Amino acid sequence: MVSTELYDVLGVKSSATAEEIKKAYRKLARELHPDVNPDAKAQERFKKVTAAYEVLSDDQKRAAYDRGVPDGSMGNGGFTGANGFDLGDFVNAFFGGNGGGGSRGPRVRMTRGEDALIRMRIDLKDAVFGAEKEITVDTASACKVCDATGAMKGSTTEQCSTCKGRGEVTSIQRSFLGDVRTSRTCPQCSGFGNVISRPCPECSGEGRVRTRRNVKVAVPGGVDNGLRLKLSGQSEVGAWGGPAGDLYVEIVVNEHPTLQRKNDDLHLTIEIPMTAAALGCEVTITTLDGNKILKIPAGIQPGSIMSLKGLGVTRLRGTGRGDLLIQILIAVPKDIDSKQSELLKQLAKVRGEEKVTARTVSSSEPSSIFSRIKGAFTK
Ligand SMILES: [Zn+2]
Ligand SMILES: [Zn+2]
Repeated sequence: MVSTELYDVLGVKSSATAEEIKKAYRKLARELHPDVNPDAKAQERFKKVTAAYEVLSDDQKRAAYDRGVPDGSMGNGGFTGANGFDLGDFVNAFFGGNGGGGSRGPRVRMTRGEDALIRMRIDLKDAVFGAEKEITVDTASACKVCDATGAMKGSTTEQCSTCKGRGEVTSIQRSFLGDVRTSRTCPQCSGFGNVISRPCPECSGEGRVRTRRNVKVAVPGGVDNGLRLKLSGQSEVGAWGGPAGDLYVEIVVNEHPTLQRKNDDLHLTIEIPMTAAALGCEVTITTLDGNKILKIPAGIQPGSIMSLKGLGVTRLRGTGRGDLLIQILIAVPKDIDSKQSELLKQLAKVRGEEKVTARTVSSSEPSSIFSRIKGAFTK
């Protein structure tokens, strides 16, 4: 079924002429243009109306739409913004230029607050498990004294006497071509069409005041350095009751004294005595999940890597956690006394190692001792 939705949006029949479509759009745009009607619903409707007009005012796009192509294009089906279409330019071209139509109307006082970026330091443990944090931000919030109007209590904004609320002043210059009419922004009201003659003393007439407030930040497990969390509407509010901007919190993770992060895994290096390496042992490892027992098999080689499954970083995208990888170093004693020396000599004799022969390691053998991952242990 072929949709007539775009025609419905403009309130015309699908048999409407180009002139009828243009007229319908012009009428709706006068009513809904953001400069005239700051209401959010009106702006939403204005976008739809303009997008519909963008398709139906173009013969080729209209023909494609009538054949059942949703937005009249061959593109990716978006309702607005097809083919790099810029709403603002389009509307300005429509209202200004050759049409000689109505004025664009006064500027809307209300502005949106600026976005802000703030850095937050957290410990590795919070990055691994996630945490509820609180940060203090210096920002602007709506002035409570004047209810964000900027006008002193008991007074209101008044229509600008210079431009009679139009936001622009027009002057006519005579020239040999005839009268030339030029419009410029009203200097009295800066184009707003109204003036605040008695500004609120609390906010100096801006409708907002500097404040310092605490913002709760829910840090998800798995965040890493440089990641930005977006807190919608948590930045400064706009002037004269405008909506707040967004606050971006960039994560900086403090270095941990023993643990290093690589992607979703944590790396730890421990050192055990030579005798323990030869005999095998159980050692207690301090992890972010508390103390854990690591069973090291007899004959572990220096540089071997063992893993404790699931004790790494929470996966930000996905489920579960990475692993804790433990590299084993072996301490060769440097301070043996004569008795220990005697014992080692006896051991060497038993093992037939009194006369040392060095084995040359082939380059084809797994070259890096670090790449050797020993058996996995859970818990
Ligand atoms: Zn105020
Ligand atoms: Zn004015």
